[in-house]
Amino acid sequence: MSDVMTSEQRSRCMASIKGKDTKPEMIVRKYLFSRGLRFRVQVRKLPGNPDIVLPKYKTVIFVNGCFWHGHEGCRYFRLPKSNIEFWKEKIERNVARDVRNEAELKALGWRVVGVWECEIKTVAQREEYLKRLYNRIVNPTQSYHIETDMDNQSIAAEPESEQIYGNNHS
Ligand SMILES: [Zn+2]
Repeated sequence: MSDVMTSEQRSRCMASIKGKDTKPEMIVRKYLFSRGLRFRVQVRKLPGNPDIVLPKYKTVIFVNGCFWHGHEGCRYFRLPKSNIEFWKEKIERNVARDVRNEAELKALGWRVVGVWECEIKTVAQREEYLKRLYNRIVNPTQSYHIETDMDNQSIAAEPESEQIYGNNHS
């Protein structure tokens, strides 16, 4: 990584590089496992190498870092003060790739669920969020708010907003 990062970004970055076993992802995995769900992780043959794959529910989950995946409006997503164009472009590329992967997965019949790290950051909101996540996985036909504006970056993240997107392919 380049030297233009602040130490805060650097540590965020390192967590992201270390990568696949970052904490937010482990939190989600542990919870789902404790609820009896069985899944595969980091499935490389699927677009975007989804973090968690639940074949039984035809569902994939991405646990996304707010910085690298450009969580617009999120307090964990702030572009560095220097080299702003560089970072902007980099993050935009990541976001575009996420959108592409999601479309490909949906075309293959997968339901795509996104989890932002900020949503499970604090223990207080985590439990409720994970419960809802579980319910959505096991009740795919139950009606729920579907976030389809993943590529609409004008949407601000509200603490209470539900960042689940995807479709049940009914
Ligand atoms: Zn966020």
